[in-house]
Amino acid sequence: MKLIKKISDLKKAIQKFDNIGFIPTMGGLHKGHISLIKTSSKKCNKNLVSIYVNPKQFNKKKDFIDYPREINKDLNILKKLNVDIVFLPSTSDIYRSRRLKKIILRKKDKILCAKYRMGHFEGVIDIMDRFISIIKPKYVFMGEKDYQQFFLVKNYIKKLHGTKFYKCKTIRDKDYIAISTRNSLLNKKNLADVSSISKILYNFKKKITNDKIKNKILKLKKKLTKTFKIKIDYLELRNIHDLKISKINKNCRLFIAYNINKVRLIDNY
Ligand code: AMP
Repeated sequence: MKLIKKISDLKKAIQKFDNIGFIPTMGGLHKGHISLIKTSSKKCNKNLVSIYVNPKQFNKKKDFIDYPREINKDLNILKKLNVDIVFLPSTSDIYRSRRLKKIILRKKDKILCAKYRMGHFEGVIDIMDRFISIIKPKYVFMGEKDYQQFFLVKNYIKKLHGTKFYKCKTIRDKDYIAISTRNSLLNKKNLADVSSISKILYNFKKKITNDKIKNKILKLKKKLTKTFKIKIDYLELRNIHDLKISKINKNCRLFIAYNINKVRLIDNY
């Protein structure tokens, strides 16, 4: 496994690779990341994992500072998975070149997390564009857990580079909690609540019938807020193809973002 920090070294190392699977991460690796890497191993000859906590995609400085970082543990995991290259860029190197065209989200994309985290997806698209321009991977592997991220990155970047994007299923623990690096910031009681919320949402989505869907979701939102004392940014049923609000339970997912113990979690069912 090669550990590379500079863009110039990375370009040299991958010169002769023609089938790279790229797995972008912010570290704090867990079973979700591991499943992306294993999927990449099956589809591509070479696997390249980046670990970079991108300051531009954090709309709150405290969130960026508090984000869990465990680089030695991460490298051990990656070694065991036989990853070919780990890219650990510095901010000065990766942001050295100035963007020619500012990334601006279309009005119709300013929904879900884009509405609540100003500048977040612009930061995500910017860094992904930089990574993909350098790496030129055949495939990029991303998680369904961050559905809107996958949707926007794919739509904004695919046209530019011709890279294929592969969406991997959300990995959950035995209590049905979507595994996330941020979960390490939660206490036992929080985790028990996250598990209950997750199960409630899964069952709700499975059973919901098409009449008065909007009212049912609103009622559930109020119930969850009261029962678990959480602040819900959104609870919305949206079409999987265009992310428009869905009035029927078909080709759609139920999206949630909420704050528990000052930690913001997202999921979809
Ligand atoms: P992150 O390190 O949180 O930026 O995540 C890196 C990639 O891993 C993103 O494409 C995420 O969607 C994906 N990911 C994070 N958690 C999970 C999970 N529980 N299951 C599947 N993919 C995940």
